[in-house]
Amino acid sequence: MGMSKLDEVGDRESWRCWLCDEPVDPNMSVNDPRGPSVDGIFATKKGKGGPERLAHRACNTKKGAVAPVVPWPDSLFVIDPAPIIGTVERLTRKPGRVAVARCPSQADAEDASAWLLDRLSRLAPELAFETSIESGGGGFLLVLRR
Ligand SMILES: [Zn+2]
Repeated sequence: MGMSKLDEVGDRESWRCWLCDEPVDPNMSVNDPRGPSVDGIFATKKGKGGPERLAHRACNTKKGAVAPVVPWPDSLFVIDPAPIIGTVERLTRKPGRVAVARCPSQADAEDASAWLLDRLSRLAPELAFETSIESGGGGFLLVLRR
């Protein structure tokens, strides 16, 4: 018996939801809101489907045609944070640098950088990202590069 697509995607993603970053129980019913489902990051782009991702059924964005959102945590002190998925899509299409947030202090920027790199290691494991912190304008700018 071959593996189902769900098992294949779930195993690849270590049974963690690509949107909320929390574990997904492979044994839960697919009809349960916390149950597993397959989502797609670039599923709405014409012609070409992107890699399939594991999501909780309630987090899944494909069927509702809702734009996926990966939230910045409230614990970080970031001002005008860039949308994470939009930024990743942009850097996937074309390597470069994007200013993703302003922070009031160097320590805040370092916290945000550490969180972002850890989050991106699961959100887009195929891409190698780096961050830098630039001071200016009375604050600290967090820049993401690939
Ligand atoms: Zn989820």
